[in-house]
Amino acid sequence: MFSFDNSYARLPQTFHRPARPAAARAPQLIRFNHALAADLGLNVEDASDARLAQVLSGQVIPVGAEPLAQAYAGHQFGHFNPQLGDGRALLLGEVLDREGRRRDIQLKGSGPTAFSRNGDGMAALGPVLREYIISEAFAALGVPATRALAAVSTGEQVVRETMLPGAVFTRVAASHIRVGTFQFFAAQGDEAAVKTLADYVIERHYPAARETENPYLTMLTLVAERQAKLIARWLSIGFIHGVMNTDNMAISGETIDFGPCAFLDEYDPRKVFSSIDQRGRYAYANQPGIGQWNIARFAECLLPLLDADEEKALEAANGVLKDFGDVFQAEWLALFAAKLGVREPADDDRPLVTDFLELMHQGEADFTLTFRALSKVAGGADVVALTELFSVSQPGLAEWLIRWRPRIEDGRTAAECQAAMEAVNPALIPRNHRIEEAIAAAVYNDFSFFHRLVDALATPYAEDPDTADLRVPPKPEERVTRTFCGT
Ligand code: AMP
Ligand code: MG
Repeated sequence: MFSFDNSYARLPQTFHRPARPAAARAPQLIRFNHALAADLGLNVEDASDARLAQVLSGQVIPVGAEPLAQAYAGHQFGHFNPQLGDGRALLLGEVLDREGRRRDIQLKGSGPTAFSRNGDGMAALGPVLREYIISEAFAALGVPATRALAAVSTGEQVVRETMLPGAVFTRVAASHIRVGTFQFFAAQGDEAAVKTLADYVIERHYPAARETENPYLTMLTLVAERQAKLIARWLSIGFIHGVMNTDNMAISGETIDFGPCAFLDEYDPRKVFSSIDQRGRYAYANQPGIGQWNIARFAECLLPLLDADEEKALEAANGVLKDFGDVFQAEWLALFAAKLGVREPADDDRPLVTDFLELMHQGEADFTLTFRALSKVAGGADVVALTELFSVSQPGLAEWLIRWRPRIEDGRTAAECQAAMEAVNPALIPRNHRIEEAIAAAVYNDFSFFHRLVDALATPYAEDPDTADLRVPPKPEERVTRTFCGT
């Protein structure tokens, strides 16, 4: 099924521990991502659903797999924990996809490992379906993120606040190396291991850095840039990761471990959904600052590699942190200006964006639908549909529209402006209440709404009449105000 080519298993023993998936009574395939399997070059044409369920729940270890749990540390809500690691996941192995890119195949929820601490190593069905839905929504939205290859129910019960059906999620990632992986070795003062890991990361993710004068500084710079751009992308679609601990920040630049994540309905920059984020550390608008904070922790791990002279190493690291801010600001402006239909924005277009966001905030307007409605206004539609999205009427909106209009008329027809805006403003996002609805039905073994939601999210920029109900914000009684980690 897989042509494994494992490289992480070759790294020193301190990097990982062997892992064995737990037995599952009655594994059943919920969904398998055939399109992704084809991209990965997997040979699954002849595999029955039963066989896929066996393999992707860990009951059968495929030939060439070397299951292991990766060691890592991490800052959780600002507090350093020197020993985390894959506690409910294992790396089955790596494959080279059709484009020759190395991708990790990981089972999540497959039982305890050497790093499980007090956890059971299991995953409940809800978080598995949630991660499946959002991973594939990201793929369709073009936001770098880990992917969903499969979801399998195990037939086991998982003990949480109540008994819940268990499941295993098969995740595909460019790699699972995190800021916390570097911190694991740096905290032990193991500079040799930090160097080994940095060399591995350069080889795997940033090969161009090898040819530069200071490969480690180049790697740090590229990681920071990818992360800054990624977070700008999140903001542009109203995404809140929810648990941006350093162990949940991938060195590859992919969104990872978005357990209690959620998309905004009405725009509120201070919005927090996660039940464990009591102080709002990871609120929507805090994400760029936290990203930079995490990159600072990453830079600290690399200091001895950046320069033999400590002062110079610090100076270089500070340069990268400043660069993070600049890259984020530029990317944010480019993305939000595009959402407004403004091409080639200048710095003085920034207030046009921030004023619109402020109107949305005061007006409690739905983030996704408002940009979509504005796209139609650009195409000549009446403003009524737009103004109706503001629950609290905003007299300033009419004035704002007068400022905005000339900025988008740059030689394009109204229809062209609308098309350009609709291509960057999704009509459909994975709304929390719909995810909850899919999970609630799945717990009673009805996966039809889950499948419908995943299928619909494959074309987020289309306005298919069959999926109109999925685009509607929650009614007051449908609102989801809290989300929970996958634990
Ligand atoms: P996360 O919330 O996914 O970022 O996980 C934080 C840490 O807790 C990681 O080291 C996980 O492996 C570990 N963890 C989370 N849930 C479980 C579980 N059910 N069993 C064992 N370890 C877990
Ligand atoms: Mg995690």
